[in-house]
Amino acid sequence: MRIIFIGAPGTGKGTQAQWITDQYNIPKISTGDLLRNEILKKTELSKKIKKIINCGKLVDDNIVTQLIKKRIKKKDCNPGFLLDGFPRTVNQANAIEKINIKIDFIIEFSLTEKLILERIQGRRIHVESGRVYHIIFNPPIIENKDNITGQPLTIRDDDKEEKIKKRIKEYKKFTVPLIKYYKHTTKLSNIKYYKIDASYTTLEIKKNIENIIKNNLLK
Ligand code: AMP
Repeated sequence: MRIIFIGAPGTGKGTQAQWITDQYNIPKISTGDLLRNEILKKTELSKKIKKIINCGKLVDDNIVTQLIKKRIKKKDCNPGFLLDGFPRTVNQANAIEKINIKIDFIIEFSLTEKLILERIQGRRIHVESGRVYHIIFNPPIIENKDNITGQPLTIRDDDKEEKIKKRIKEYKKFTVPLIKYYKHTTKLSNIKYYKIDASYTTLEIKKNIENIIKNNLLK
């Protein structure tokens, strides 16, 4: 089962990815997480990545594609994987097509800019694992602590309003053309494309995605 989640920041992709990972035993591969972990290594490259992420821009296609290629080769990806936030550009999509990575279905999360800005205010993350919480919609068991490790949660630097606006701009510039590309190519291939309304509750969206997965597993 190979799934791609596409959606602007704050549309709930990471939250939904979490239960899929547990339920279907496939890893969630988020390029955002891979890049944030790269930053923790404090290398020359990580300084460059940090600067780009902090101004809300997209990291170079080659850097993210190399990270993904390396990650997908790991054994835990044998039963499948969920790509969260990759690809984000047509170039990135072409890069995985070139190495023959086949995708079963794509789910697009759609939400208005107003709701994105409201939701992102409450987001908290556990950097090492990539687990995502929301203070109201998906709170941790103990306030501000990761459910598994008990370590403190943090607010992402790039979740501040100005930076989110920049990230939405990047989404419109690079990822909206990718959506058009996928809508076209999926018509000509076996890949299924679904668009879901991300304004519903976490549970309602979960049910919606569960149905999509079940329908695909039956085929
Ligand atoms: P995310 O955690 O998915 O919201 O990503 C956080 C930031 O990491 C983005 O704003 C980009 O700067 C960078 N990033 C993550 N995934 C990609 C990607 N596929 N292509 C380029 N930049 C990315």
